Amino acid sequence: MITIKNVTKTYGSKQGAVKAVDNVNIDINDGEIFGVIGYSGAGKSTLIRMLNGLEIPTDGSIKVAGREISHIKGAKLRKARQEISMIFQHFNLLWSRTVTDNIAFPLEIAGVPKKKRMQRVKELISLVGLDGRENAYPSQLSGGQKQRVGIARALANNPKVLLCDEATSALDPQTTDSILELLVDINKRLGLTIVLITHEMHVIRKICHRVAVMEGGNIVETGPVLQVFKNP
Ligand code: ADP
Ligand code: ADP
Repeated sequence: MITIKNVTKTYGSKQGAVKAVDNVNIDINDGEIFGVIGYSGAGKSTLIRMLNGLEIPTDGSIKVAGREISHIKGAKLRKARQEISMIFQHFNLLWSRTVTDNIAFPLEIAGVPKKKRMQRVKELISLVGLDGRENAYPSQLSGGQKQRVGIARALANNPKVLLCDEATSALDPQTTDSILELLVDINKRLGLTIVLITHEMHVIRKICHRVAVMEGGNIVETGPVLQVFKNP
């Protein structure tokens, strides 16, 4: 589903250049939950942001569902982002809009007519377990509920890939577990490929099939979770 080939990302000018991602190669399978773990500054965020064109690689190629993602622009890129959506550590919700209107937002942008939009929002609210909270504003929700809105919004246009950027790092352990269970449920039910980055071993152990360990821009180890983390 995703092929990352010889990808490098350098920030800054010659004098102050930082190689955030250094010649990385990863293949992620269709329907897989793939985790990237590493300390702060390892390059995880840069890597995941290149998967939906939020950052452009300095070198190398990234293919998602057979299509090169790193050199497309404009309307094509917006279309591609409907297929590769993302959730965030701080949710990135629209604070002046209700749960319903936050989830409807990407459907509006995609030009889905109102009646169809509302039907889809209803399905999504039920999928993420937010029934009864339709008219609440983000400030009236718990952290876990906010992330459920983020997930519903990300799924609105039926993506093939869901990218999770430290999606549970702002949540307490119990809420983290409930969000991880929701992600597993979505992965199973919709066959969605999930790529997540985290600095928490627990997250990887709980839901990932395979993991890559990142350090100083490099992948230092990769494989099935049980193999990479042999000793509990
Ligand atoms: P992580 O997500 O693992 O914390 P990042 O991808 O955020 O790692 O950062 C990797 C390296 O790239 C760090 O040294 C960071 O300071 C640097 N970096 C990240 N984003 C930028 C940027 N926009 N401009 C310059 N340097 C950056
Ligand atoms: P959280 O505490 O839920 O993780 P943040 O405080 O990091 O969220 O806020 C995420 C983004 O939303 C930030 O860009 C912030 O400026 C904006 N934001 C937060 N609260 C409000 C609000 N009440 N009204 C408008 N924007 C807000």
